[in-house]
Order: sequence, then structure tokens, then C-alpha cells
Amino acid sequence: MRSYDRIFIDSATTSEYNEVGSEVALVSNWADDKDILQFLSRARQLLPMKKFCENCDKEVSAKVVKRKEVFPVCGENTEVSAQVLVCPECGEEMFCDEFDSQTLVNAYNAYRMKHKLLLPDEIKRIREQYGLSQRSFAKLLNWGDKTIYRYEGGSLQDRAHNSMLLFLREPGNMRTYLAQNEVDLDEKQKNKILSAVEKLENASPMEGDQRVFDLFFSSEPCEENGCKGFDSDKTYAMVLFFGNKERELLKSKLMILLYYADLLYYKENGVSMSGMKYIRAPYGPSPENYDILLGKMTADHVVTVDIKTEDGYEKHEVLAESSVPRNALTKKEKQILECVHEKFSGLSSKEIFDFSCKQKPYASTKPGEYISYSYASDIHF
Ligand SMILES: [Zn+2]
Repeated sequence: MRSYDRIFIDSATTSEYNEVGSEVALVSNWADDKDILQFLSRARQLLPMKKFCENCDKEVSAKVVKRKEVFPVCGENTEVSAQVLVCPECGEEMFCDEFDSQTLVNAYNAYRMKHKLLLPDEIKRIREQYGLSQRSFAKLLNWGDKTIYRYEGGSLQDRAHNSMLLFLREPGNMRTYLAQNEVDLDEKQKNKILSAVEKLENASPMEGDQRVFDLFFSSEPCEENGCKGFDSDKTYAMVLFFGNKERELLKSKLMILLYYADLLYYKENGVSMSGMKYIRAPYGPSPENYDILLGKMTADHVVTVDIKTEDGYEKHEVLAESSVPRNALTKKEKQILECVHEKFSGLSSKEIFDFSCKQKPYASTKPGEYISYSYASDIHF
């Protein structure tokens, strides 16, 4: 049992369960360690934390307080929402390494967003798409040995370095770079990069590598997927449709829009649009393996997921990287998507969540179980 299983269970049984809302989502899928740690930092706010207060000279149950702090980043004051520990008896702020480093990371990220600098994860993805180690990537760029390691770890990157990384994100530019610069890599390494470039150039976002889909999504039509095997092209087109239509498309909103599009399409045609299965999750109806889907779409350059912090909560905004490919959607499909978009366009994630919970498909399904498409006839707009 991993050590955080326990904390998850503890906090999930408290009445504050709902407050953690969408974060529980990530944990219930055990998406990856980063998601889990993020959830935990949230969950910890709900649990009393024993700390020694120097001022009171005794152990107290420290309170977690959220507040705005201003941090100088590169000489520029950057506002960030921070969490601090406070003694409930004397009100003195207490030292907490974990919160302080989180605040620093938040401040750097706020600065990065403002100045359109790459985030650490994006830097990592650029390196990984060419199959390079941190050291070889630094060598290729003629940068210091530890530079990439530091950037991926959260250190703020140099502006010129950022431009270089942005340039090299495009596979074609990597080819040019290799041809025009004398780089300190052997032939074998160069060939490895070039074959990665070729692979990236040939993989259209709509084709991609099917393996992830085969592993996580069913290709056989069945009741749970609305009598249609998973159709990745269609799913991508649906996400791009909403990504281009909605002003601010949050991850939590997108999953409910997809759900309604599929159920409504099923209601009229007896078959779903995407072939996705939906689960009754605590935070609303959710496509099965939703995080894997978004991860794959990010890797395929179909969408980017932008993480912002607002009032101490993270918002995951999904941004379309292109328009919907021509002929990817039929007229009938577009009509349904348009209808779902119009119905929900003015509503927040919370309002859509409330709406979906009251409707029969969600309300009649037990937590964690598949929502049957047979309930589609009960959906009324
Ligand atoms: Zn105290």
C-alpha cells in the first residue's frame, strides 16, 4: 500500500469530500504521481497538522491559511496565491518547507504564463519527443550540463533559451538545426534524433499511435460505449469543436459536454458519436480514462492544457491547437454538438455539474459504475 492511500481514504470520508471535487477525480483514476501529490496537498488542508509553535512553546494543530502573496520574480513583483501554516493559538506563521516551495513554483509559473515562457513539463516533452536524455539535449544545444535538468525541475529559464526550445519544438526546425550547427553528438545520436523527426512529421495528429487507444478504450461495440467501438478521430474532432467554440473550456466542463453530445446523438441515432464509455464520477459524468485521453491529445498536438491557479484552486483549461479538420464531422453530428454548445455555453462548470446530476442517467447510476446509454431517452434540454 502506498503511503498516500491512507490519506486519500481519510479525506474522502470527511464531509469536505466535495470541496476537493475535481481533485478527487484525478486520484480515483490514479492517473500519475504528480496528480496524486497535487491532490494530497489539497487534502492536507482538510486534515489537522501537528506542528511545534516556537512562540507558544508547544505542539499545536496548525491551520492552513490561503492568502495572496507578492513574490519578486526576475525583478518583477508577481502575485501568487500561497498557503501558509498558522498557529491557531497565537496566530504566528509557522515554517513549512513544502508550502513555501509550492508557492515559489506557483510564482514562477504565474510569471511564465504572463511572459509566455514554456512550463517545465513542456520543456520535458520537447526533449522527450526526440528521445533525448537531459544530458544529450544540453549537449545538442551547447548548454551547460545541468541546464535542462534545472529547467525541468522548475528553475526559471533564460529568455534566449526559451526561444530556442520553442523553435526546436517543431520537428522540421530540429532537422534544420542539426544541418546548420556543429553539434557535440556522435553520428548514432544524430541519426536517432533524425528518425524521431521523421516519425513526428509522418504522424498526423489524427492518426497518431493507436496503441494507447487499444489499451484503454474498447474497440468492440457494446452497451456501455453506445454500440460503437472507440473512434479516436471522431473524439478528437468533438474536442476540437468545443475547444474552438467555448470561450474558456475547462477540463471539467469538456467532459460533460462530450457526455451530452454522445448521449443525445445516441438518443436520435441509436449509436454514440465517439464510442466512449462514461462513468458516474463524484465530480460528474466522465469519459472513462479521461486523463489518458487528454494526455494523448496533448502529445498529438491536438490540444494543450493550461493550468492556472485561481483562489488557491487549479483550473485546467483545454485549448484547441487547430480547427476541426474538414469532413471530420457529419452534418448531423455538428447539429448535436451545436445544440450542446448552445445549451451550456453560458454556464459554469459548477452549474453544468448540478444540471447533469439531477438528470436520470447520472442520478440512476451507482457511483463508479458505467452510465448506460439506454438512459439517453430520458435526457431533456
Ligand atoms: Zn503559537
